Amino acid sequence: MSALPTSHPPAPSLWDALPSSVLLLSRDGRALHVNTAFCAFTGLTAAAAQGRGWLAAVAPAAQPGLLAALQKAEDFSMQLQLQWQCVPADGGPREAWVDCAGCWRAEHGDHVCVLHDMSPARRAEQAARAQAEQLRLLADNVPALIAYYAAGDNTCLFANKQYAQTFGWDELSIVGRSVTDIIGEAAEQQIQPHVDTVLQQQRPVVYERQLQRPDGSAQWLEVHLVPHVDAEGRSIACFVLISDITRHRLAEQAVRESEERFSKFVQASCEGIVFHKDGFITDANAPACALVGFELSELLGRRALDFVAPDQLAKVAAVMAASEETAYESAIIDKAGRRIAVEFIVRSMHCGGEPMRMTIVRDIRDRQAAQARIHHLAHHDELTGLPNRLAFMEQIEPLMAQAKSSAEPLALLFIDLDHFKRVNDSLGHLAGDALLQTVGQRIVALLRASDRVARFGGDEFMVLLSGGSPREVVAEVALKLLAAIEAPLHAGGRPITVTPSIGIAIYPGDGDTPAQLIKNADAAMYLAKARGRANVQFFDHALARSAYASLVMEGQLAQALERGEFVLHFQPQVRASDGVLVGAEALVRWQHPERGLLLPDEFIALAEQQRLMLPLGLWVLREAARAARRWQDTGAPGAAEVPVAVNLSMLQFQAVGFVEGIEEVLREVGLPGRLLELELTERMLMDDLPEVRRKLNQLKALGVLLAVDDFGTGYSSLGHLKELPIDKMKIDRSFVTDLPQRRDSAAIARAIIQMARGLDITVIAEGVETEAQRAFLSRECCDELQGEAISPPLSAAAFEAWRARAAGG
Ligand code: C2E
Ligand code: CA
Ligand code: CA
Repeated sequence: MSALPTSHPPAPSLWDALPSSVLLLSRDGRALHVNTAFCAFTGLTAAAAQGRGWLAAVAPAAQPGLLAALQKAEDFSMQLQLQWQCVPADGGPREAWVDCAGCWRAEHGDHVCVLHDMSPARRAEQAARAQAEQLRLLADNVPALIAYYAAGDNTCLFANKQYAQTFGWDELSIVGRSVTDIIGEAAEQQIQPHVDTVLQQQRPVVYERQLQRPDGSAQWLEVHLVPHVDAEGRSIACFVLISDITRHRLAEQAVRESEERFSKFVQASCEGIVFHKDGFITDANAPACALVGFELSELLGRRALDFVAPDQLAKVAAVMAASEETAYESAIIDKAGRRIAVEFIVRSMHCGGEPMRMTIVRDIRDRQAAQARIHHLAHHDELTGLPNRLAFMEQIEPLMAQAKSSAEPLALLFIDLDHFKRVNDSLGHLAGDALLQTVGQRIVALLRASDRVARFGGDEFMVLLSGGSPREVVAEVALKLLAAIEAPLHAGGRPITVTPSIGIAIYPGDGDTPAQLIKNADAAMYLAKARGRANVQFFDHALARSAYASLVMEGQLAQALERGEFVLHFQPQVRASDGVLVGAEALVRWQHPERGLLLPDEFIALAEQQRLMLPLGLWVLREAARAARRWQDTGAPGAAEVPVAVNLSMLQFQAVGFVEGIEEVLREVGLPGRLLELELTERMLMDDLPEVRRKLNQLKALGVLLAVDDFGTGYSSLGHLKELPIDKMKIDRSFVTDLPQRRDSAAIARAIIQMARGLDITVIAEGVETEAQRAFLSRECCDELQGEAISPPLSAAAFEAWRARAAGG
């Protein structure tokens, strides 16, 4: 009990029993009585609260208001902030909000004040406000549009910032607006059925809507409507959650368009394309169907391997199993059971998220036929039916190895007809051809089956005697050959006689490589010629040297260079499509004092024998470079540059310091490398590939262009050329001569052009003599042309006049 001295003691036990704090205050603010709850709440003792002591618990700011209210001597109600002292055990002062209701008791002249602690309510309110703010923060920061609409009148009760802004409001101004105000009448009508479903059937609904952004671009929205159902089961509101799915839509569209493009491409492709999944065909385009001879409906669902040739199954299955991405040659069987050579280009891909295989099926029958034909032509001499140089070279190496292991020497006979040119010149080429055929037959007839014979070109034959015959026997065979060939024969309707000169080299002893052996047999043959022709000579190192010396004397070739008897002629090379001059081939001639202008066929081989080819080659190179430099200097501004093409002999190409020599000439003449083209023969590219490649790369580094001359007659395989930095292929004249009538020539020319294109190599045809040849080659997309149909080789002056005329139109 905390009674205060008062003239009107109330019923204290009743007050103390009240849970609320109660105090009895006089009009001047003195406490007449405080109850137990007050003391407990404020932490004041009854004694301390006495008089104005209780005011210690009231915040100073609240005191004047309270005292004023008491002064008025009437009932009042106000909020006070209490500085709540607390009992010491509870710690220091705290603050509390209380409602104070004062009741004026006129009869007692005092107020009964009841204090009601509002702090818990206030705290709850603060917490609620904080939570609402958090919610707002969250709502405004999620990447979605959120709103909440009342069910009855469709007014917006809540919207996050994104939602409000999307429709042109802010999050406060939007509240209380109708859905029509917010999204417009048309949109409202559109979505009304969804809203009805949500509210009536009380289930969520999802739909998509397309909006137009202010900038005109399309925006796709995915809208979720969720009903808010109260405890009584009534729909009271609707939650709206909208996400922007424009990005997904654009991505989907891009995928769809890309698939459409791909499918159009597959349909338009003229190559067969087949799709299969887990080995079963799921689709194929029309060319694929046509190739195998089945309708698409017959192919669908069948195993892809059902169409593969049996001997190819293992390989194809392995590629499929490994999901390899590759291209390879194989074969299929068509509906009629025919085998078709094809190239497969296989890729893995995904379609609708599923792994798939795509196979391009390319019919390569034509290509293979042309390749086989080229192979045959490449290995055989058409005139005599004998193996040619390439075939011979392929045989000689294993035979040398065999000879080495069995210790049975090999003999190589180099047979060259004497004065064969005269036969050709006097009796004509047909007679010359017949003579060569007869000679070939006679050689074959005389030899054993195990011996090898080849025609090396022109009037050169090569014989390889196997079986370890001793030297005397070899000499005997050679003399028999001599006699057999010498026997009179009929050519061109009259009896004639030709004699051969035969040179012999023995392995081992006269050379370690096929090339050396042939070279030495060739040298021995020249010795035979020097010794009056129509005889047989064995290779002999010392003699060979002196024989050359006598030939130098005989041929006057060495002096020719000093005397300045060589000249260069130039033959124009033009672009097939429009006839524009794109180059010129330098061709050397010998202005012989007695015999007149000699063509290279009459002296190049000789120059090579004497190693005069090196200085002569250098002279040609320098002279050609000077000419090209002159053309560059005098070219009309804007006119295309004209590079000069120079023929190289094997000897030059293999000489030490060859590349340096080229570099030196370019520097000396001041000619950029790109204006010099070197014509290499396939033979030069054969031996020692790494060394050749190194050399060619050095030349490329100088900017020099590289062409393969007489392409199609030599050894090179396609695979081989692929590895070399070749710029140009010259289709050999022999394939051009019979165009377009002869089908095999046409097939070969076409195959070479296609190969060259495949390797990104320029292709030029030489020896183009007729308009028909020119038209055929242009049609087949041959890049460049050279030959009499354009112009024969011209002297330097005539060439420049030709060039000026061509440039003038
Ligand atoms: P090649 O490199 O195949 O040169 C092309 C030959 O075909 C030239 O013969 C040229 O006059 C001839 N020709 C051009 N257009 C036609 C045509 O429409 N019909 C016919 N029937 N022939 C045509 P040329 O000038 O007698 O040269 C013969 C060979 O001599 C050349 O064959 C080349 O291998 C070699 N040669 C020429 N000059 C040099 C040279 O400076 N150095 C070396 N190492 N060899 C050379
Ligand atoms: Ca040439
Ligand atoms: Ca040629």
